[in-house]
Amino acid sequence: MNAVIQCLSSTSPLVEYFFSWQFENLTARKKKTFVNAFAKLVVDLWFGESQSVTPEDFWDALCCVHPPFGKISQQDAQELLIYTLNGLHEDLTKTINNKSSNMVQGIIIRHTIRSASNTPITRFFQGVLSQTIICMECRRRSYKEDIFTVLSIPIPSGNKASLMQCLQCFFQQVMLTSTDRIFCSYCKTKQDATVEVKISKPPKILILHLKRFEHQGRVRRKLKTNVTFPLTNLDMSPFVTLYNVTLSEFHLYSVVVSIIV
Ligand SMILES: [Zn+2]
Repeated sequence: MNAVIQCLSSTSPLVEYFFSWQFENLTARKKKTFVNAFAKLVVDLWFGESQSVTPEDFWDALCCVHPPFGKISQQDAQELLIYTLNGLHEDLTKTINNKSSNMVQGIIIRHTIRSASNTPITRFFQGVLSQTIICMECRRRSYKEDIFTVLSIPIPSGNKASLMQCLQCFFQQVMLTSTDRIFCSYCKTKQDATVEVKISKPPKILILHLKRFEHQGRVRRKLKTNVTFPLTNLDMSPFVTLYNVTLSEFHLYSVVVSIIV
């Protein structure tokens, strides 16, 4: 939990938002909500007088959002991050629009936050993926868009890989054949097809999750591949659609590493 909190409390636009938001609402908002607990934690971390901060209120609030986090066992950092962003988005949606967006279900599977409301979470972290599907029979194209908050990217096999190679794996064109064939609305039947994914709207802050676990049947294995990554100038332009290519350079400011001892 500490690693995720440190990452979020180093996210300048988010922290700046909560500074102004919290100061405006600190006295008016005594309610124990998830967003209040997070805002208080951020303010304590940056302006608190103590040498150390215990995130008890935040943890309690997190356990309300997702009770399994209350167990005394190691939790997945990426899940914690998603639930935190989700919880903030939900509460801010209520605050900003005075309505719920109902978005907890399916969040882990889709790695996305619905864009029903414009909150700082969607403004900072949300991007759009575009899929281009080409029917191999009639060559017609169809398009599909998906919102994402975290991109879960695979790690190529081997002892060593670069982040760029992981991204190339994720964005490579995929051939759908056999049981994976798609229904073509022009051919009116299932056909082989290719699928290519690109980012049509890059997020301001890009969260990449390396899929460290591989499933072989019922066996789950952690990949020990050493993944190298640039600290500055991550060039995402090969994976971004042409009209947004100017927004495709990213600089690293935070990383969570899970180490098995
Ligand atoms: Zn077709």
